[in-house]
Amino acid sequence: MKKTIIALILPLFMASCSTSQVITEEKTPEVDVLQLDWDELAKTSPWKASEQWTPIPEKVTPGVFTSAPSDAIVLFDGQDLSAWHKPTYDYGARMDQVASIIKAKSVAPEFSEALWEVKAGAMVVKPGSGAIETKQAFGDMQLHIEWLSPEDPGKKDQFYSNSGIFFMGLYEIQVLNSYENETYANGQAGSLYKQHIPLVNASKPPGEWQSYDIIFTAPKFDANNTLVSPAYVTAFHNNVLIQNHAELLGPCVYIGESYYVPHADKLPLLLQDHGDKVRFRNIWVREL
Ligand code: MG
Repeated sequence: MKKTIIALILPLFMASCSTSQVITEEKTPEVDVLQLDWDELAKTSPWKASEQWTPIPEKVTPGVFTSAPSDAIVLFDGQDLSAWHKPTYDYGARMDQVASIIKAKSVAPEFSEALWEVKAGAMVVKPGSGAIETKQAFGDMQLHIEWLSPEDPGKKDQFYSNSGIFFMGLYEIQVLNSYENETYANGQAGSLYKQHIPLVNASKPPGEWQSYDIIFTAPKFDANNTLVSPAYVTAFHNNVLIQNHAELLGPCVYIGESYYVPHADKLPLLLQDHGDKVRFRNIWVREL
């Protein structure tokens, strides 16, 4: 009752002295604190109703530091390119070409040997030899990949260690030296190319190994080829969150406004040859 009176009087009081400052005591809401009778509750154990005991998560042996966990598909362990080949059709640089590339790849997939070099436990882009893609197709995945920009002081902007990781050959997270190398923000390392700027710049200097850990959720299309859910990317660059469940608008293209083009549930992972000798190592995937 006391509170009600204050609530009624206070506005009148404030209105009558609008030029002077009114200091009111902040009221703490009164809450009944329920005293739990544990002995009584133990008779029925009501907490058990919200416990979920199945399914039991499968046991996985974690890798040491960044090595692959026991259930990963290893795409490159430093030895050879046996999990990769060179696709006949590269990624789509122009949005108006994407549909025809997707169609060409699905109708008559053609490929040849991956020509990138393997040196000192790393695969190295061979400039001019084209992109490489995995022989295996993937949809939703967890990806770990390490990469290195070789020191090359003469280079800058988009021409300093440019490569890219294209999920399904279409959705790119940019690989670039972004350590003191200015370029457009939605094209720097860790950007979802021309769609999402990374939350922070966690780049290491050229010459140092860096890592990406990425959760990719593939877009879903229904039987009528209508988009049901878009692609999402969560990414860590050198263990720092740079993309947090970022929604893609469609393929990551160089020219044009992106929109979805229907495609298969699973497609190969592609690494870009942009003319720079970027190195990659320790690549593994967990299908989700
Ligand atoms: Mg690129």
